[in-house]
Amino acid sequence: FLRNPIGQKIQTNAFSRLQSNMSAWVIDEYGNNGVLRFTEEATAPSISSGDDVLIRVHAASLNPIDIAMRAGYGSILLKLRRDLMSLGQNASEFPIILGRDVSGVVVDCGSGVTHFTPGDEVWAAVPPWKQGSLAELVSLSEYEVSHKPSSLSHTEAASVPYVASTALSALVNAGGLGRDNCADKRVLIIGASGGVGTFSIQLLKAWGAHVTVTCSHNAEGLVRGVGADDVVDYTAGDVAAELGRLEKFDVVLDNVGGGSEHWAPDLLKAWSGAKYVTLVTPLLANTDSMGLLEGGVRSGLALSQVAVKNMCNGVFYRWGFYAPDGPVLDDVSRLVDTGKILPVVEATFPFAQVPLAFQKLEGGHARGKTVISVN
Ligand code: NDP
Repeated sequence: FLRNPIGQKIQTNAFSRLQSNMSAWVIDEYGNNGVLRFTEEATAPSISSGDDVLIRVHAASLNPIDIAMRAGYGSILLKLRRDLMSLGQNASEFPIILGRDVSGVVVDCGSGVTHFTPGDEVWAAVPPWKQGSLAELVSLSEYEVSHKPSSLSHTEAASVPYVASTALSALVNAGGLGRDNCADKRVLIIGASGGVGTFSIQLLKAWGAHVTVTCSHNAEGLVRGVGADDVVDYTAGDVAAELGRLEKFDVVLDNVGGGSEHWAPDLLKAWSGAKYVTLVTPLLANTDSMGLLEGGVRSGLALSQVAVKNMCNGVFYRWGFYAPDGPVLDDVSRLVDTGKILPVVEATFPFAQVPLAFQKLEGGHARGKTVISVN
């Protein structure tokens, strides 16, 4: 007998079983935690194009988008993307495998793959339109994969790729920051105690920026521990007024959204190229509720209206998005291996307890990341 990843005895030949089927947590419809289903019969991914890299998952982690996607968030836009990938061959998007982070070992590569060979330890952020990492195997394009930092265990490594790819895309592409221009920059992170925040603090400190953050009182030790210079407790009173007493900022990264998008741009240095970047955007929710065309157009109009209003006040307003990028993870890997960035793992769950991990994340108040140990 062998044991499957949730501890049940299995009698089949594991090798041949892995060729076509695998263990995974899937959803067959959108809904609450009740829709998560464990199966040993999920279709295993295979090498289907020259740049594919097939990875055996050792650890995965959860992000807020997993909770949202479980409930149907982004279904219209993501289905379009999946249909384009499968050339419309799959009538339904189900079963969907959630999980956006993977740390694991390469088991097979397409003929055109040049950077990886079977046996390599790798990490990656799995794009939301691809089958996720709450499974034994995941298939990604070579461009999306990176060699895992050797100083981290798989469990630690799985906590990093999705938040790192998001933070880098937001701070570099939308915020105009980088390792060579941060020495004199003041950056504010709104909502710094979760996955994106704890990574962004460390990245910005590695680049030499001054970092101010907002978080709850009981997260102050955590954010200072990973390098925050100034900490404002948003639960203690008027956070906008408190931040307004500080020297103005070059970039604001907003991980919370809502009301902050009205007051936070006022905290920027006007007419100096300063940027407000929010990760909380209405694009996918709009396409879900209004359809692709109307939702896309409405989102574009809303973005340009707010951007123009802010531009009149001398600051830039931008949306930040996760973007898959293996080479960017190579840079992060070097920062990790030189001790400049540490993983912040708040909780680890065994593969058998994936629904409990979702429950934990759904409870909010993240202090770093929730990781799943797969095998
Ligand atoms: P987490 O759930 O890991 O962290 C959110 C953190 O914000 C928690 O620590 C929470 O702690 C804190 N928080 C909540 N309310 C406030 C507030 N008013 N002021 C300050 N802190 C607050 O989320 P992530 O870090 O992974 O992601 C951050 C946001 O970015 C999420 O909304 C996510 O959906 C979004 N995102 C968007 C992406 C994109 O492509 N656009 C990609 C990735 C993430 P507490 O409540 O105890 O204060």
